[in-house]
Amino acid sequence: MTDSNPSTAVKRIAVIGGGVSGLSAAHHILELSDEQQQPVEVTLFESQPESGGWIGTIDQGDYLIDTGADMFITNKPAGINLCKRLGLVDQLISTDTRYRGALVLSRGLTVPVPLGFELMTPSRMLPMLRTPLLSLWGKIRMGLEYFLPRRHSSNGLDQDDESLAHFVTRRFGKEALTRLVQPLVAGIYTSDPEKLSLRATLPRFLDMERDHRSLIKAARHQKKAARSQSDATGARYGLFAAFKGGMQTLTRTLAERVSERGTILYEHCVTHVVPSAGGDMR
Ligand SMILES: Cc1cc2nc3c(=O)[nH]c(=O)nc-3n(C[C@H](O)[C@H](O)[C@H](O)COP(=O)(O)OP(=O)(O)OC[C@H]3O[C@@H](n4cnc5c(N)ncnc54)[C@H](O)[C@@H]3O)c2cc1C
Repeated sequence: MTDSNPSTAVKRIAVIGGGVSGLSAAHHILELSDEQQQPVEVTLFESQPESGGWIGTIDQGDYLIDTGADMFITNKPAGINLCKRLGLVDQLISTDTRYRGALVLSRGLTVPVPLGFELMTPSRMLPMLRTPLLSLWGKIRMGLEYFLPRRHSSNGLDQDDESLAHFVTRRFGKEALTRLVQPLVAGIYTSDPEKLSLRATLPRFLDMERDHRSLIKAARHQKKAARSQSDATGARYGLFAAFKGGMQTLTRTLAERVSERGTILYEHCVTHVVPSAGGDMR
């Protein structure tokens, strides 16, 4: 502390790690410092010679290669909002519609995921009826989701968690899990859906059940709402967005902004954090 008045006393804040999380946190602290007129001294510690963590872009000839994340999801507004605040919106691109979609390897063949199927919820019926990925019973079982009641949580709270596998099997049946949801979700989380907490990974599906009872009903409702929103506001993004110059655009810009008003100490590995007598950390 360098001032006795609490509102103007400089708060010293350390951020450990210069991946996208640490950089965004440091940047947001500086934003809040302006908003609340609270002076801060931000120091970010990064063990490597450069920031970005798992996010990195290599420029090789005609190609840009993202070595980690190559896009981010837009239906959670935080990512897009951060891009707006950083002035990066004009550098955003969405996926090329010619190559949009996912394929599932089924009995040795690559089969497109039915149109309108998003992670676990179908919003269009005809493509679901036509897909060779599911048996007739699998399709009927998926369709029955529309009529299933909400889950009644054991403790009366809607915060009850369950595994992703349990949720999908309960709502859409085992076949939908193994032939559609598991291949898609595995590509994102690379982990066993029996061990994935739905609340931690895809909470919006729990919310859809809570708010609409049926996920199919909720997906159709959301589709209608998205359509009327895009009619009303014009520019919309696809489900995923990336940067023309690769994902490192984001971490590089964040690092520049943080360095302008704070300090980034590269090659500084934090090994321990010790609380001092006054409650500060050393
Ligand atoms: C191949 C791959 C593809 C991916 N694709 C996507 C995608 O398309 N979309 C998406 O949203 N996500 C994707 N992800 C996930 C996403 O990249 C990560 O979730 C995200 O980059 C993690 O950021 P982070 O800042 O939390 O952690 P990290 O990137 O791990 O950053 C942590 C930083 O802290 C530093 N550090 C660690 N310990 C210390 C210490 N003791 N002292 C100082 N510094 C320290 C590290 O050096 C590092 O720079 C992908 C991940 C991988 C690996």
